[in-house]
Amino acid sequence: MDVSPGHWLDIAVQTPAHSAVGSLLSYRSPVAHAAGQLVRVPLGRREVLGVVWAVGRAPTDLAPEAVKPVLGALEGLPPLNAEWRQLVAFAAQYYQRSLGEVALSALPPQLRELDSTQLARRLKKLQAHGAPQTPAAGPPLSPQQAQALTRLREGGGPFLLFGNTGSGKTEVYLRAVEDLLARAPQAQALLMVPEINLTPQLEARVRERFGEQAVVALHSGLTPAQRLKSWLAAHHGAARIVLGTRMAVFASMPQLKLIVVDEEHDASYKQQEGARYSARDLALYRGQQCGAQVLLGSATPSLESWHHSRAADADGDPGGRYVRLLMPERIGAATLPVVRRVDMNHQPRRTVLSAPLVQAIQDRVQRGEQSMLLLNRRGYAPVLHCTDCGWKSECRHCSAFRVFHKIDRTLRCHHCGATERVPRACPACGNADIAPLGRGTEQLEEHLGELLAGVQRPDGQPVRVARIDADTTRHKGALESQLAQVHRGEVDVLVGTQMIAKGHDFRRITLVAAVNPDSALFSSDFRAPERLFALLMQAAGRAGRDAAQGPSEMLVQTFHPTHPLFEALKRHDYPAFAASELAERASAGLPPFSHQALLRADAREQSVAQGFLNAARQALEAELADTPEGTALLAQVSLYPAVPMGLQKVADVERAQMLLESPSRQALHRVLGRLHAVLHALRCEPAHKGLIRWLVDVDPQAI
Ligand code: ADP
Ligand code: ZN
Ligand code: ZN
Repeated sequence: MDVSPGHWLDIAVQTPAHSAVGSLLSYRSPVAHAAGQLVRVPLGRREVLGVVWAVGRAPTDLAPEAVKPVLGALEGLPPLNAEWRQLVAFAAQYYQRSLGEVALSALPPQLRELDSTQLARRLKKLQAHGAPQTPAAGPPLSPQQAQALTRLREGGGPFLLFGNTGSGKTEVYLRAVEDLLARAPQAQALLMVPEINLTPQLEARVRERFGEQAVVALHSGLTPAQRLKSWLAAHHGAARIVLGTRMAVFASMPQLKLIVVDEEHDASYKQQEGARYSARDLALYRGQQCGAQVLLGSATPSLESWHHSRAADADGDPGGRYVRLLMPERIGAATLPVVRRVDMNHQPRRTVLSAPLVQAIQDRVQRGEQSMLLLNRRGYAPVLHCTDCGWKSECRHCSAFRVFHKIDRTLRCHHCGATERVPRACPACGNADIAPLGRGTEQLEEHLGELLAGVQRPDGQPVRVARIDADTTRHKGALESQLAQVHRGEVDVLVGTQMIAKGHDFRRITLVAAVNPDSALFSSDFRAPERLFALLMQAAGRAGRDAAQGPSEMLVQTFHPTHPLFEALKRHDYPAFAASELAERASAGLPPFSHQALLRADAREQSVAQGFLNAARQALEAELADTPEGTALLAQVSLYPAVPMGLQKVADVERAQMLLESPSRQALHRVLGRLHAVLHALRCEPAHKGLIRWLVDVDPQAI
């Protein structure tokens, strides 16, 4: 028998996130495999999917016979190219996760289950993907759209398209794709959106423009078979356009030449579990690395992107590295709504809908126009309480209240999901008088129904109130059909959470109201004002999109009518808002003027979680202080003491966090690079036995 060892391969396999095993494992193979090849290998007792990462040398720490053999390759599948592997390696390193975890979770799960025959059949079906048809003609461009495209054609970037709501950003994206395909028929474009089900219109528009064959979707709403099909089409280059959510940033697209990130400010671009990557930031990395043009678009850019696209100034600031493109005007003669603040201090106590708002809604109903009411709280009331003893509907498992849902008379925890029937009497004192406190969308819908009972539409029919939130859209297809109802004009007054504020091209809304936006003004999270402003601007953007509808209005009910945030909103002045927020961030040394990472720990007891974090901080400081380089690093990176998280307990797990912050991204990452070894060592100590898990969140979106 041949005793030659054959080929040594380093292969990425999915290993547990914090396991001590490195995620590149050595295997041997009698036949050669190229880097990027997908293979099946033994891992423990299982057979798993792996990606050949490098053709290596014989391992020094193992006897050659102990190295396990590769079981087979996924034949017919071209290797994942070097650019894809580099993207994965960068993401793993930057977000502090194992390479194998990031690589394998970027692949469609069904790939793990297919045998060679099944795969061959799937690949054969791909041949059906023909050449893209000539794109259907779009509308003639507005002058500012044309100007933006002219600049894009000159190349360079990355670009930030700062375009007002309704300015026609989508048309610019589509033309940019069209331009690309005209220039390079084999090229591929990646179009990313925050949540695909919120904008079913967009997918339809892209397919209509470029043809069914040219477009595939990639998002978590697909079945495993659909996801595999899309992925294969992208990987083979058969799909010209991939339309997807954040996961699509990892799609294998060998001919990728253009990446569009629509609504780039949206928090859904940040993954909130596993590798907590920002798809927007990775898109920028990927574009630079593979030479694809990157176009970010928003009416309310993230302050980071706004800052990075600032112009040079006379004081020696060289400006940011993004190119800012402006589209301030709405399409057609459509104008933005007039913003009116309703001072709730002058309304009777406990007013839900102020007199001016009720009047404005009634006027719309009578004129046959639509209104939209935004309240960022689902359920009937956020708390139930006893008027006698003060009992409140706290969740037994979380540091939060259970929300009263009247529709099925339940108390539900929105954090752990625990649900119970509403008690008949106060569980603490037996008092039968327990009452809702505060209000949610369900109550608002009910309340509106009562208020508008006598109001008639122009056709004499009664008013139709509808609600869209996570509760009404739980079932597959529900959101699409409810949105379609609004588009068809079958709803007069729409109530909902932030779901209704984003991206929709509603044509008949002439009134938008923010019912109770104040709570976000005084949040402890420094990003809360940025998020509130974006949400309100987006909500305002749903009104008056059709000039034929006449003037439109936005009403903001607030106890703080002179707050600068509302002043800027009134003027639709994002740049002014951004300038004042950025000035505050600069003086407080907050992002984008510093870089942050959070180390989080979970345990049954808060003291254990905090103890682990504080021990990690001390160990890290001690280790760094040992060398001159380490001391220099420490001077640049602040390690803060552990604190309980805002939502301290969820599902009986106590959570704590520790902030690391530095003006230098590089310094921060060098410290983070030391963290893993420290954490692994600590975990073995008896003092930290109660620790459940830890995780690192780089560039966290919520603090
Ligand atoms: P945004 O994404 O900037 O809010 P959209 O892309 O949704 O704006 O465009 C707003 C509306 O204007 C849509 O109904 C779109 O079809 C229409 N539109 C966009 N560009 C043009 C154009 N050049 N001519 C006519 N209508 C356009
Ligand atoms: Zn009581
Ligand atoms: Zn709970």
